[in-house]
Amino acid sequence: ERERLSRLRHTPAVTLDGQKIELLANIEQPSDTATALAAGAVGVGLFRSEFLFMGRNGHLPDEDEQYLAYKAAVEGMHGLPVTIRTVDVGADKPLDHIRRADDHLNPALGLRAIRWSLSEPAMFLAQLRAILRAAAHGQVHILIPMLAHAHEIRLTLALVQKAREQLDAQGVVYGPVQLGAMIEVPAAALTVPMFLKHFDFLSVGTNDLIQYTLAIDRVDEAVAHLYDPLHPAVLQLLSRTIAEGRAQGKPVSVCGEMAGDVTMTRLLLGMGLRSFSMHPSQVLAVKQQILRSDTRKLEAWAQRLLASDEPSELLNE
Ligand code: PEP
Ligand code: MG
Repeated sequence: ERERLSRLRHTPAVTLDGQKIELLANIEQPSDTATALAAGAVGVGLFRSEFLFMGRNGHLPDEDEQYLAYKAAVEGMHGLPVTIRTVDVGADKPLDHIRRADDHLNPALGLRAIRWSLSEPAMFLAQLRAILRAAAHGQVHILIPMLAHAHEIRLTLALVQKAREQLDAQGVVYGPVQLGAMIEVPAAALTVPMFLKHFDFLSVGTNDLIQYTLAIDRVDEAVAHLYDPLHPAVLQLLSRTIAEGRAQGKPVSVCGEMAGDVTMTRLLLGMGLRSFSMHPSQVLAVKQQILRSDTRKLEAWAQRLLASDEPSELLNE
């Protein structure tokens, strides 16, 4: 089976009815780009930059160290796009054992991701400068995690601009970037038009969107049986995010685990998704599903599933 799949590596991901689908890789280190390319990914949809920051006992990577890491990822993809997510520490990704996330009662609802970045503007500016500099070496997209509020969007965009001005002032070379927002808080999924006003693309983080929609801690085993990607509320938020992005001609991707789950591929296609980002090990299996799918047939089925109280019962139809 693995051998059969590996033959699909160079096959374009196109559905039976001719829809081109973008299959991207999620990575955690610059060296993962080799695995991403070997799997046939056409870009990196999610570089989880926090892995450069974790387990360092408070000693965070400075601008130059980050620049070299991002540049290595960009060069590793040989001209294919690389989406670098700004640091998403906190909750399930504690920075180190000095500032442990579990010092707080509800770390998943606490100072994580963009909230932490905005509370540490010097650190955030250093990361933004490093990413902008790496963009001089290839196609770079910046992705911002956990946004929910208009003022967070405003502050983030102002800091991106400030990072550019700082580089200008120093005469340092940098490149153009596309800016994207993660949709992973229900509040964001319900206000997608606000995000579309400010961002070039969206990426849905279903791992967190499920956690926050269903009030299920994604790392708590005791409630793991309630963590349901097919809950109608999750599907509705996902579906409207995809539809609203497409209506405005802006790319929407899914980069949570759902995108790499072959049992979800047909449903995501039926909801209109055309870009998937996943662990490299899943790319070929998802491509196989895509090659067998006809999106014209999947659309009506997906609508029925979305209207159902128990979508899981219709999934294998
Ligand atoms: C997600 O929440 O779906 C996501 C891709 O981000 P992470 O899993 O890193 O929180
Ligand atoms: Mg997330």
